[in-house]
Amino acid sequence: MKLKNFKQYNDDLNSVKVKNLNGSVTNKRLYNPCGSWIKHWEKLANKTNSGCGVQGCSTKTKIEGGHVIESGSDDDKHYIVPLCDKHNGGPDGEEFTVKSDDLMSAIECKA
Ligand SMILES: [Zn+2]
Ligand SMILES: [Zn+2]
Repeated sequence: MKLKNFKQYNDDLNSVKVKNLNGSVTNKRLYNPCGSWIKHWEKLANKTNSGCGVQGCSTKTKIEGGHVIESGSDDDKHYIVPLCDKHNGGPDGEEFTVKSDDLMSAIECKA
């Protein structure tokens, strides 16, 4: 697949706008028995991460499991997406576009 087509595909069918949840609030609310949120993401996704999930970001190193909520959603459901340290460390509420397939529930799972 050509790269320019991939972006179009993403925009049309498979992308979702999310808001960054930052700070310790999320960590206090949710206990994570997986050790780290990126490990939790990889367990639920059943694959290793392939870099920052933000559309247009090509960072492949220092990937963390970032907490996000879906933009415009009222249900306050937390998701984990692979984020580079720059995106994960961005301001609370910062919006970015990710692939909907990359959203994994930030639920407690059994270790
Ligand atoms: Zn887990
Ligand atoms: Zn990034």
